[in-house]
Amino acid sequence: MSIELPEALILAKQMYKVLIGKKIASYHLQNYERMQKVGFLNKNIIDFDRLLNGSITDVIARGNTIRIELDNGMNLLVAPEYGGEIFYHKDERKGSSKYHLKISFMDGGSLTIRIKSMGCILVHTKDELADSYMYKRDFLSGISPVEDEFTLERFSQELSTINRNLKGILVGKDAILVGISNSAFQDIIYRAKLFPKRKGSSLNVNERKALFEAISALIQERLQLNGKSNFIDIYGEEGKYPPRMGPNRKGSSCSECGTGIEKMSFGGGQIYFCPTCQEL
Ligand SMILES: [Zn+2]
Repeated sequence: MSIELPEALILAKQMYKVLIGKKIASYHLQNYERMQKVGFLNKNIIDFDRLLNGSITDVIARGNTIRIELDNGMNLLVAPEYGGEIFYHKDERKGSSKYHLKISFMDGGSLTIRIKSMGCILVHTKDELADSYMYKRDFLSGISPVEDEFTLERFSQELSTINRNLKGILVGKDAILVGISNSAFQDIIYRAKLFPKRKGSSLNVNERKALFEAISALIQERLQLNGKSNFIDIYGEEGKYPPRMGPNRKGSSCSECGTGIEKMSFGGGQIYFCPTCQEL
């Protein structure tokens, strides 16, 4: 259910279309204490007052994180990276009642944001953004696989110098790319026919190319199909991309070779893989 780069981009583009110019009239927070305890929501709830009377000027996504910018210098940073729902409704009364944050606009519409697992909703000034972990990780570092800087040459060069496993290279705080979590990772290395524990520096030229192409292809397919199959966009439409590898393939066999799909714990998560196609 994670929201990775393709889904964050879909949400940001949809929000850009409907929210630009909308002025914030009020907000409501509920059931947020758990998020607050772990730093996923501002410690002082009054920080959210800074959103009031601000008009939305931009909505952009990088990595798994979405930044909504207001004309009063404030920013709403949203990263539902382990699952979440963001809904827009032009008639606030018909909007979802399940949310952590609801923003109501002067024109009667509303945006509701619900974080289902780990993920953040933060209000920050431009200066405060620079201290935010999510902003630093997704906006100020890493290569984005949908930007021009993601080239086979650069990716291969970086990979060949890193003596860590592929999971650590592609996912998490030390990743060289932004926007890939455990879900996309399983799909990508299955497509590239690589064992999850392979080290970046051990990949030959063909394997590096296969990995690069798998990343690009996965992201493009998920963008074209409105996100992963368990994703829901701001209008409530479901994504149509079924992961080629992941928990949805449990108990089934590989579509390439017929071997039974296996699972292992690795890098702080479960990895499903084909022991034949992804042989060590
Ligand atoms: Zn296979």
